[in-house]
Amino acid sequence: MALMRIVTVGEPDDEVLLKPAARVREFGPELHKLLDDMLETMREAPGVGLAAPQVGVSQRIAVIEYPEDEEDPESPKVLYEIINPEIIKKKGSEVGQEGCLSIPGLAADVERATFVVVKAQDRHGKEVRIKAYDWLARIFQHEIDHVHGVLMTDRAEQIYKLVKTKEGELEAIPLDEVPALRRVASAS
Ligand code: ZN
Repeated sequence: MALMRIVTVGEPDDEVLLKPAARVREFGPELHKLLDDMLETMREAPGVGLAAPQVGVSQRIAVIEYPEDEEDPESPKVLYEIINPEIIKKKGSEVGQEGCLSIPGLAADVERATFVVVKAQDRHGKEVRIKAYDWLARIFQHEIDHVHGVLMTDRAEQIYKLVKTKEGELEAIPLDEVPALRRVASAS
């Protein structure tokens, strides 16, 4: 396996993050290597989800790894590899604060469904259906957005800048309340 570079917004090649990705038609060794490399890259980051456009590959692929029991971070993690994913059912709605490996330093309040059914293919091309609730449902919606070129900031009700406090914790400050950015905005 090999680590891949994560493309971030503002880099010269960030266009891959902003355009819809292509449907996957080949389920061979090349796809399997990509999935393995994406998994390693996601774990190293670390993150709970990673879509192929985030590693510069414009294909409808994402990996997600999340504890089986949301309340217990020590519970075994379940890995989902989704190819050509589609949300075929959704219910409920809740606003939650998300982060994104391609938008370091920012967080966003995004309204998402609290339950989704995802139809996708596995690494061998077999059709799978996955039901996800709450935070896992949010991760699926975030990653499936990525394969359509949609970012959390496109859907955000509020964007925050993440700032490290003296205690070393991350604090989310609403973007319109960050003095340096307000100065930049008023100067332009
Ligand atoms: Zn993301």
